[in-house]
Amino acid sequence: TDMTKAGWKLENSYADLPENFYSERHPDPVRSPELVVFNDTLAESLGLSVEEMRSEEGVAVLAGNRLPEGSTPIAQAYAGHQFGHFTMLGDGRALLLGEQITPSGDRMDIQLKGSGRTPFSRGGDGRAGLGPMLREHIMSEAMHALGILTNRSLGVVTTGEPVYRETVQSGAILTRVADSHLRVGTFQYARQWGSIEDLEALADYTIKRHYPEVEQDENRYLSLLKKAAERQAKLISSWQLVGFIHGVMNTDNMAISGETIDYGPCAFMNTYDPETVFSSIDAQGRYAYGNQPLIGGWNLARFAETLVPLIDEDQEKAVEQAQEVISGFTDLYKSHWFSGMRAKLGLFNEEKEDETLIDELLGMMQKHEADFTNTFRALTFDKTGEGALFCAKDFASWQERWKERLSRQEESAAESHDLMKKHNPAVIPRNHRVEEALEAAVEKEDYTVMENLLNALSDPYAHTADQEPYTSPPEPSNKPYRTYCGT
Ligand code: AMP
Ligand code: MG
Ligand code: MG
Repeated sequence: TDMTKAGWKLENSYADLPENFYSERHPDPVRSPELVVFNDTLAESLGLSVEEMRSEEGVAVLAGNRLPEGSTPIAQAYAGHQFGHFTMLGDGRALLLGEQITPSGDRMDIQLKGSGRTPFSRGGDGRAGLGPMLREHIMSEAMHALGILTNRSLGVVTTGEPVYRETVQSGAILTRVADSHLRVGTFQYARQWGSIEDLEALADYTIKRHYPEVEQDENRYLSLLKKAAERQAKLISSWQLVGFIHGVMNTDNMAISGETIDYGPCAFMNTYDPETVFSSIDAQGRYAYGNQPLIGGWNLARFAETLVPLIDEDQEKAVEQAQEVISGFTDLYKSHWFSGMRAKLGLFNEEKEDETLIDELLGMMQKHEADFTNTFRALTFDKTGEGALFCAKDFASWQERWKERLSRQEESAAESHDLMKKHNPAVIPRNHRVEEALEAAVEKEDYTVMENLLNALSDPYAHTADQEPYTSPPEPSNKPYRTYCGT
């Protein structure tokens, strides 16, 4: 099979940046690659042949044993604030194979994750375990199906080699597909260790790739900051509206494109509580559910700092302009969040009292420990019968006011119901379901549990009967659910 048949159409525009932004490096070959999950639909949208990609040659590419035509693999340099502490990072176990030009003309990063050591590996082995890679596949595909901007997973291969963590597990490589891997941390790296020319080259590259509409603006670097802030406001509001907790919102894990990236310790909230944290390394709750919008603003401020030298020769003036954008972030976020919450409650128009209505519902949900997803489902289908929340007196009066509010708008009850169905998912990747799928795959090489889960997650707003088994929260447990930084 030749590579052109597979449909590769790779370019390497990132490699046109100054040399200190990356390091050329080939993937380390692996012993015996085997495909364990592949994303046919994504492959097709990339212009790749499913048949060729699933063949031995195709799998060899996904394993890093063979380079696709036109690939110049590189590890990207970046820095970042990890839990508030600034440090040098970089792709320690990932390689960008190139940018695939899709049939619709988009430019998508194709990256192998778990492909071996790079100059940025520090003490790490450059490898990844099967469990965490399947987890990333499930979570990122679930997010995409929920309509949330995210990088995607083309598939996962096992390497036939062990990786050593707390336990020994199968090595695996995930192929990540993203609008780009430009991060706040990439700009921090340029600002800290590069020249002004480097920083400018990076900013211009980013604008060209993600925000070409600001290229001719009088102050395009300030426009870049504004655009990135808008995307983050929208992204983080979409997380909040489905109960997604990223878990490790370090500045190196915030994409300038506004995609969700880095699926390490992320998880979905069951019971509504703003303080929910799953990550084992987040003892302080810095990245708790309720903190995510705040942290988003903090990360953006770090991004703004890197752009200050480019925004205006007069640094004081530049700082002022940047600060104005940053202080606008909260309102930007809130307006996205409120319009999303209104839709979740079937509201088409805006009334002043809506904020109170929404806040009161959330307050009751917290007090009565209600399941976040299922509360909105129950409201959607008018099945507010059982459970502490729905039996509470305060809920009854809230419900009455909500119904009155609904009747005040022009749209019919049927239209409200349809709106709610589109904004309140039936299925989210519940932690116990994800763990169950990973256990079957990792312990028994049984991938059917995961396939069924992926299937249920693929159309979360369908509200069909066969999704029902995936809608239950976990049995109450004394042991809190814990996630680990994907290794
Ligand atoms: P993360 O917490 O996923 O954002 O990763 C933080 C940094 O650790 C990044 O620079 C990763 O490339 C690096 N890293 C994570 N795991 C490994 C590994 N097994 N080998 C080498 N580098 C790694
Ligand atoms: Mg990362
Ligand atoms: Mg990671």
